[in-house]
Amino acid sequence: MPWAVGIALLIAVTSWRRKSLRPSGAIAATVVGALALRAGYTWGAFLVLWFVWVTTWSRLGRARKALRTAGVVEKGAERDASQVLANGGVFALAATIVCTTGELNGSAALWGASALAAAGADTVATEIGTWVGAAPRSVRTWRIVPPGTSGAVSAAGSVAMGGSALVLATLAVAIGVVPAGQWWVVAVAAVGGAVMDTVVGAMVQARRWCPVCEAATEQRRHSCGATTEPRGGWPWLGNDAVNLVCTASAAAFAWLLA
Ligand SMILES: [Zn+2]
Repeated sequence: MPWAVGIALLIAVTSWRRKSLRPSGAIAATVVGALALRAGYTWGAFLVLWFVWVTTWSRLGRARKALRTAGVVEKGAERDASQVLANGGVFALAATIVCTTGELNGSAALWGASALAAAGADTVATEIGTWVGAAPRSVRTWRIVPPGTSGAVSAAGSVAMGGSALVLATLAVAIGVVPAGQWWVVAVAAVGGAVMDTVVGAMVQARRWCPVCEAATEQRRHSCGATTEPRGGWPWLGNDAVNLVCTASAAAFAWLLA
């Protein structure tokens, strides 16, 4: 399938040039994109529109968001391979199953689309929530935490999460990845996955502390240069693993609901 790889590579390289992806992220995106296109044009189209939707919100107020989250988030706005796979891996797995079985509108389409919709809902919630910048609260302590903190919620972020789930479920149906009767399954499963992401991100994701700045962070080496200390959560559970929980649980919810 050289044409599928070619189209996926073109989009990935453009995204790398526009600083949405790191080189490793562009390679991973090419693999995910080629697998989606191999499953069918509709799958490729859904992935491309999903990417446009997420990237548009990610680019919105980018400098302002980078400034707000510089000392908190583990990674910057350019996505690397593990971020791409945490968000798109379950969808790529569904595409691979479709390629093997040839069943374009089967259950793999439903849980694959739900996983991708959940990743989109979660990402857009973070992007809009951080952009608006209203004080988010940790669902673990209900205290106000800096924008970008995992497991924190704000009104703007929650509206963005629900809205994004509805938009992406509608896209999946409009393009023909999922039958119209299962629109609600994708929407509900996407919200379920994003909620799981928030809960797991708040309760068990590794939390770290910078002794120099006396500030909470997710970075091993803080933006100030100091080495940070573990401060709760499971030390091995980073943001990418939590995103994988988001997409995998959305797939599981879709499978259970259908
Ligand atoms: Zn520091």
